[in-house]
Amino acid sequence: MLGTHQLGETDLIVTLLTARTGTVRGVARAARRSRKRFGGALEPMTRVAAEWSERSGRDLHRIDTLEARRSFAGMQAEPVHQAACAILCEVAGAMVREGESDHAMFRLLAAVLEALEAGMPPEVAVRYFELWTLKLHGLLPEIRRCNGCGVDLGERCWVSADEGLVCPGCARSEGRSARLLHKGERAFLVDAIRRPPAELADHREASRPGGALELLLRGTLQAFVERGFRSYRHFDAALRALGTSPNNLGTSPNNQPTGDDAPAEETP
Ligand SMILES: [Zn+2]
Repeated sequence: MLGTHQLGETDLIVTLLTARTGTVRGVARAARRSRKRFGGALEPMTRVAAEWSERSGRDLHRIDTLEARRSFAGMQAEPVHQAACAILCEVAGAMVREGESDHAMFRLLAAVLEALEAGMPPEVAVRYFELWTLKLHGLLPEIRRCNGCGVDLGERCWVSADEGLVCPGCARSEGRSARLLHKGERAFLVDAIRRPPAELADHREASRPGGALELLLRGTLQAFVERGFRSYRHFDAALRALGTSPNNLGTSPNNQPTGDDAPAEETP
């Protein structure tokens, strides 16, 4: 269950990510009046068993039955987890096409939800989901070679909002828009591809909002869908309220770009 929208006085438009037919949108009649009929199935991220009738010539199907099978409502009592789930919903809804099978995304979402519930830090879960969403759709930028000129990337590389990871030379020509990718951030890219979610808890700092990884991963997704995602704002606010704001997680001075390598000052 990715989400619901009101339709008139009594109905809901329901958006589902399905195992076999991509996203499905349909009208659940009288769902606003009798939420009981659907149990917890209308809660975002609930795994449901659904039946629907296709209506020829219409975008919206008719939802016949909707039964909750696995709830993730408990962990979403935490605002940060709720906000992280809202990001997963928005990104999945934007990347999966209606009616076109995307089983890998269905499995990815299920895996990330399980991991979040089992204690994966929400910042890491969001970055992991972004990375794998890109990878599954053939959109993950090259991480070993410069996306500008093709040279092997050495120890120091930069994130360009337009091109992905780039070498110092290409970063210099980007000027101020390029950001240094710190060692820990680079390690996340390598580990997230090879390791299961449960082994990534150490990458919390690298995954923080406002970091270079966010610029790379979220930025590439947004460039692909050609719009910004709205749900990240709530996530950042929820993290700030917890006192783990991106501003509190300063960057260590020895990771600043210096000398000829530096395309621009990273901080004023
Ligand atoms: Zn280059």
